[in-house]
Amino acid sequence: MTSLTRRQFLQKCMLSLAAAASISYAFNFQPSQAANDTLPILLYHRIGPETDALTISPSRFKSDLQYLHENGYNTLTLAAAKDHLSGVGSITGKPVLITFDDGYLDNYANAFPLLQSFSMTASFFIITGMLDQPNRMTMSQLLEMSAAGMSFGSHTVSHRPLGNLSPAEMSQELENSKAALEDLLGKAVDSVAYPRGSYNLSTLYSSHELGYRFGLTTNTGYANSRASQLALNRIPVFRYDQPLAELLRYC
Ligand SMILES: [Zn+2]
Repeated sequence: MTSLTRRQFLQKCMLSLAAAASISYAFNFQPSQAANDTLPILLYHRIGPETDALTISPSRFKSDLQYLHENGYNTLTLAAAKDHLSGVGSITGKPVLITFDDGYLDNYANAFPLLQSFSMTASFFIITGMLDQPNRMTMSQLLEMSAAGMSFGSHTVSHRPLGNLSPAEMSQELENSKAALEDLLGKAVDSVAYPRGSYNLSTLYSSHELGYRFGLTTNTGYANSRASQLALNRIPVFRYDQPLAELLRYC
């Protein structure tokens, strides 16, 4: 994946925003009473030495956390993020939700210690069928991170794009991954990140039916209390040229 120019980047942000708005309208979601709360939800995948588009170097991730720290951001748990977008609870500082998709081992090895060094929290979306697989996090690592205040959500069982699946297959992916995480963590799990950003109206209905209340897409932009809480925007952080300050300013 090549770097985006500033113009391409902004066009991508605006197109995603329009797509998310039309989905919310079609699904007739009721906006919360919280007027117009927004929330930047950062999307990371891997933190390590690899040079692919999805991997951020540890030094880049550390500088992102340093920026958030110096600029008064408060990293939220998933529960606090839901409350914020529902207009419930009070948050000090500027809210931000840090998310990781795919459950790579480097999330535990590289991201977790850096988050702890800044007394920050993040949320990890796990492909439950890949737990304990090579280069992925283990169940015991998830338990350690959960005890240290990290949050977890479903990234389905097999990472197949939900928008391409039959209703039965889609339900199995959503239901079985939720149950596996709840059994492991001993906590309710009601958040999902759609693999490859693939979802449709049926996905949103199924997610709601199965008990999910917070759904994260890969549509670019700030999450907004007026949108469906099952189709929230995020701000992907790739090996692009824009520093975090610009991503937060222009998305
Ligand atoms: Zn993924």
